[in-house]
Amino acid sequence: MPLQIFCCFLIILETVTSNMSLNILKMESEYVKELKNCIIKTIDDRALDLNNISQCIWEHPEICFQENYAHDLLTTFLEKEKFVVQRKTPLETAFIARYGDATGMKVGVLCEYDALPELGHGCGHNLIAEVGVATGLALKEIATIYPDLKMEVIVFGTPAEEGGGGKILMIEKGAFNETDICMMSHPTPFEIPAPMWISCIQLTVVFKGKPAHASGAPWEGVNALDAAVNCYNGISMLRQQIKLTSRVHCVIVDGGKVPNIIPERSELSIFIRGLVKEDTFDLANKVKQCASGAAAATGCSVTFSETQPFYDSIKTNPTMIELYINNAKSIGVKFYGDTMASKLIASTDMGNVSQIKPSIHPCFKIVTPAANHTHEFTTSSGAPENQVHALNSAKSMAMTVVDILLNPTFLEQIRKDFQNKN
Ligand SMILES: [Zn+2]
Ligand SMILES: [Zn+2]
Repeated sequence: MPLQIFCCFLIILETVTSNMSLNILKMESEYVKELKNCIIKTIDDRALDLNNISQCIWEHPEICFQENYAHDLLTTFLEKEKFVVQRKTPLETAFIARYGDATGMKVGVLCEYDALPELGHGCGHNLIAEVGVATGLALKEIATIYPDLKMEVIVFGTPAEEGGGGKILMIEKGAFNETDICMMSHPTPFEIPAPMWISCIQLTVVFKGKPAHASGAPWEGVNALDAAVNCYNGISMLRQQIKLTSRVHCVIVDGGKVPNIIPERSELSIFIRGLVKEDTFDLANKVKQCASGAAAATGCSVTFSETQPFYDSIKTNPTMIELYINNAKSIGVKFYGDTMASKLIASTDMGNVSQIKPSIHPCFKIVTPAANHTHEFTTSSGAPENQVHALNSAKSMAMTVVDILLNPTFLEQIRKDFQNKN
């Protein structure tokens, strides 16, 4: 073949090929659009049902491991929606609900539903349950209409986030082992896609002294309350020397019974947090030194125990969160950029899940005058105007799954991200 003709042939072939790939891309993007529209429509169509779930849980606040009402409500709803539900698995108030093709990509969507003592839903976990179910319903819909998608959605009911570490106990029982990715989102006063959920040790410190008549023979007593106060003050001074990303806070849960008996026993409950677990362990040792010093100063004995499982820090998957942000923006969610203060939130047992599976745990903004764990936030988490924000987060998560399903390079990249440290 003369060179000129050969070159011409190549150019034509190249044009045909690039036109073909353009068409395929166009078809693919039309398909993506169709699936995402289906997700948006499904969640909008079911908004009342979803709102009802959130409202019912909000009206029946239950603290850790006592979430029987929420467990029944959610499992009954998902069963009616044709999910295969394992109730009370692997914990009494946990559940696992599946829908779709078990040979496909397994998407874990996590619900929380526990409340805070005396505050009710001051952390908005009723909205987290709503988001989890909404995401599950949307993914169920596309799995039904487009069976070629090859996906199983697994909605996990995870109790006892506010102390108790429900997810950590579920990890120990292998509950999340089969998932390829995991996701949940949480209401806060800010839109924070990749918050710094830091690791946390929950330490109990008990001082033992000797009782005595506080007026008649105080010199015979060894005052355990003095040890607790001394320890508390030591921790307060220690705060000046800790990293910006660390936290320590405590309450005295036992400080004696009556003033006329020198307290024989005192107890502090202390939360110690750090950006990485090394920081947290290091700070815990310093807190223990405060306690030991207080014991020595007062003549008490001291014992330490960790009453709750260790909450690890969150490892946000960069590819997944980028997709989430793009999808959220596409439906009008606004991101204003994070400051350090707004990024640093608290601790969650979702951190432990993110250490074993590629995960995201974005925070979505609700309209509220106050931060989480306040009476005002409780009111806001039950407010009808905040439903739309919860549902937007659910749409964004479900649309992120569509992106991952239709572009295998994303899942590859997500796995690579996960292997990277941090
Ligand atoms: Zn909370
Ligand atoms: Zn929370």
